[in-house]
Amino acid sequence: MPKNLKSSSKKAASKKAPASKSPKKMKYVYTWGAGKADGNGSMKALLGGKGANLAEMTRIGLPVPAGFTITTDVCTYFYANKRKYPVELQGQIEAGVRNMEKIMGRKFGDTTQFPLLVAVRSGARDSMPGMMDTILNLGLNDQTVEAVAKATNNERFAWDCYRRFVHMHGGKVLGVSKLPHEDHDPFEIIMEGLKAERYNDPKANDSVMTADDLKELVKRFKALCKERTGKAFPTNPWEQLQQAVGAVFGSWNNDRAIVYRRKYNIPSEWGTAVNVQAMVFGNTGPESGSGVAFTRDPATGEKVFYGEFLINAQGEDVVAGVRTPEPVRELKNHLPKALVELERIRKVLETHFKDVQDFEFTIQDRVVYMLQTRNGKRTGVAAVRFAVEMEKEKLIDWKTAVKRVPADQLDQVLAPIFDRTALKNTKAIATGLPAGPGAASGVIYFNADRAVKAAERGEKVLLVRVETSPEDLRGMIAAEGILTARGGVSSHAALVARQMGKVCVCGAAALEIDYHAKTLTANGQVYKEGVDYLSIDGTSGTVYAGEVKTAPSEVIQGLLHNDTTAKKGATYKNFVKLMDWCEKATKMQVRTNADTPADSAQAIKFGAEGIGLCRTEHMFFEADRIAAIREMIVSKTADQRKVALAKLLPIQRGDFEGIFEVMENRPVTIRLLDPPLHEFLPTDEADISALAQEMQMPVSELKDIISSLHEFNPMMGHRGCRLDVTYPEIGEMQTQAIIEAAINTKKKHPEWDIVPEIMVPLIGDVKELQFVKNIITETADRIIAASGIALKYLVGTMIEIPRAAITANEIAKEAEFFSFGTNDLTQMTFGFSRDDAGQFLNAYYDKKIYENDPFARLDQDGVGKLVISAVKLGQQTRPDIKLGICGEHGGDPSSIEFCLKAGLHYVSCSPYRVPIARLAAAQAAIKNT
Ligand code: ADP
Ligand code: MG
Ligand code: MG
Repeated sequence: MPKNLKSSSKKAASKKAPASKSPKKMKYVYTWGAGKADGNGSMKALLGGKGANLAEMTRIGLPVPAGFTITTDVCTYFYANKRKYPVELQGQIEAGVRNMEKIMGRKFGDTTQFPLLVAVRSGARDSMPGMMDTILNLGLNDQTVEAVAKATNNERFAWDCYRRFVHMHGGKVLGVSKLPHEDHDPFEIIMEGLKAERYNDPKANDSVMTADDLKELVKRFKALCKERTGKAFPTNPWEQLQQAVGAVFGSWNNDRAIVYRRKYNIPSEWGTAVNVQAMVFGNTGPESGSGVAFTRDPATGEKVFYGEFLINAQGEDVVAGVRTPEPVRELKNHLPKALVELERIRKVLETHFKDVQDFEFTIQDRVVYMLQTRNGKRTGVAAVRFAVEMEKEKLIDWKTAVKRVPADQLDQVLAPIFDRTALKNTKAIATGLPAGPGAASGVIYFNADRAVKAAERGEKVLLVRVETSPEDLRGMIAAEGILTARGGVSSHAALVARQMGKVCVCGAAALEIDYHAKTLTANGQVYKEGVDYLSIDGTSGTVYAGEVKTAPSEVIQGLLHNDTTAKKGATYKNFVKLMDWCEKATKMQVRTNADTPADSAQAIKFGAEGIGLCRTEHMFFEADRIAAIREMIVSKTADQRKVALAKLLPIQRGDFEGIFEVMENRPVTIRLLDPPLHEFLPTDEADISALAQEMQMPVSELKDIISSLHEFNPMMGHRGCRLDVTYPEIGEMQTQAIIEAAINTKKKHPEWDIVPEIMVPLIGDVKELQFVKNIITETADRIIAASGIALKYLVGTMIEIPRAAITANEIAKEAEFFSFGTNDLTQMTFGFSRDDAGQFLNAYYDKKIYENDPFARLDQDGVGKLVISAVKLGQQTRPDIKLGICGEHGGDPSSIEFCLKAGLHYVSCSPYRVPIARLAAAQAAIKNT
């Protein structure tokens, strides 16, 4: 007799439940089996990913055991109605079971012949591996188990199924799991106890257990359930089914699932579906088994059958690691015909789903059954290879291929990698944020200077800091990788690392760094500067003890080092192909943020079409310049300042010449000096006295000047165009350097059309821009006139202060281009500093106030609105105004799509992100046509 699900009364249901507006017509159960299915693969929202694809596989003739899906609508109803069900559900479930019985030729609860046993499986829209519950072998009790034993003449098999069922149902449905004071699952403890009693070995392989042992296990398991729940273990299969369905719906809101959803941004409203499916048995003996497989290798992308299986096992054994599975190709030694069938299925799946599939199968007495399929998760390298090769095989067209590679994953193709075998012998000591992808190993140094010196001696160095500052730049350049104990993905270390393509892990909080003792402690183990190696994986965020072997990526070797062997490799060729397609699709330019000829040259090799942001201050940190810039800053009079600036002029001009030379005809945007001046000042006693001597100034006086330059909030202090307003000489010198450099380069290459774009930072008022623009045009026009060479140049501004965005129509009267500086625009719009936000943003994520770091992903609702309105206002005044973005967001795929929609002409990002931006821009273009 079917046991009823608790349903709410019709009246109450129609009032409360969104899902029951027309109760009679509601279809809550979708069946599949024997080649027919109510649902199909496109119905993932209603049937969940697993259910929709089980239906789809059935439709295309794959061997799927019959079953039915209870829809996600029921989950929604369940939570909206105090965990009750729609009234018509029970009837539909009974009809679903009858359909299975008919197809399978077995009866649920049959005690005379082999009964229908079922799996009750969760299945959300997106897969949430291992997060929710699945119950196998449901329908067994003391009578049906005997029927199974008799029908199969295999008592051990019958009781093996039964003990699995009691374990799963007891644990997942009845909630008998480990208590706070226990370390292990109580069922496992009982099983180990029995093995110890009977075989003297608690860890003995499950296969040693006889039918008699398994019977004893069932008895003890049931006793455990009774003891913990106060109730006898349910014997009525309908009651078991009703409990299991409730447990799966309930598992949607267990702690694990909630945490997982938060991490992967899965909305809780989606709900899960429940799949009830006829069991097939991988545990009947040596001609049965269970496995998981990918249609191609998800790590390397190679077109080989990839996966593993266990003989004589049910599915969960493969994942649980009870025994070590064998590679799927080894099936040829056990069940060769099954392997042939699986190879056939592999082809069918790819031809039908047109993507690499990750699937689960069971072999029962040499017959293969399909239990699940979904698009396989893959590494960046594999994603590129899949896409390119599937296009070649004509499974997909090139536009689909472009869409297939998650733009964010492309950096994995560029990053150096750890030797996989080497990793196996290595210990992870901490984890932080994966801030700069790739693998790096080196001797640890806690100070930039000492790191540089060690690197000069030829050591491989890992720079380890609590956090980094611009002073550390040289050390960061010298290091193989950067590791910090504090800071987020938009911290200084992370930003610079990405710009340089350096491997970086930041915010590894478990590291205790003692600068004084020059040691780092992790897990009680002490690592010493100059002695000990650490290795970091900037793709995963893991920190390893010791040295691990690495290799540069093939793409980098081919693109940047012109390595001919690398260029013959599949990874390189596939990458180039993908980039060619991007070129074909893209509407928006991708420029780069680069400050040196070397960076610019790299960016061009990555496909950059110009420079969107050349920061002039980075040039000043180099050893030969810092002295002159310090002199300029501490100058007390304009004359003194001019002396210092005169020293900087030729250096800066040289820098720009180098950049123009590399960039040829491509556009170059150069930003005038931006940061607060004190960032350049010496902090070291020795540096201070050297500067005082150079300036012929008493040390005490210099110290006074330095402290007078202190600002409470430098981010909103004396910086950007404010420097040119107070010290016009700075803007003059920089303009002179830019214009002279352009003229000199033009003299050498008259055929190039060089049009320098001079960008004024931090403008808030058009009058500021007028003032600074005057300095620029007066200087530039004078030099151009004197040179006798025709040179065009543009003057524009960054839009990075909300006031500028709001008054963009005014600003555009002076500005010939806008470049959205979304880093500052984000700080200023939110009113928090990106250097400090790391301390509280986590609380904002936990409390679901923010979903993302607004510095990593453009806040389209707020900052984005400012961008869109500034574009419109700017175009009102100047319809042909050039528009771009140069903040970090220029390298973030979702922000790039936004930029395209907002009507920007280019995005700009660090050289190593150029390929990612090109891919994202191409994807956005394809999506928005
Ligand atoms: P998950 O979503 O955690 O992968 P599944 O519902 O896929 O959970 O179930 C886990 C495993 O249980 C499957 O990989 C499969 O091996 C086994 N299993 C599920 N359904 C059946 C079935 N009808 N017959 C036999 N084994 C099954
Ligand atoms: Mg599964
Ligand atoms: Mg700025």
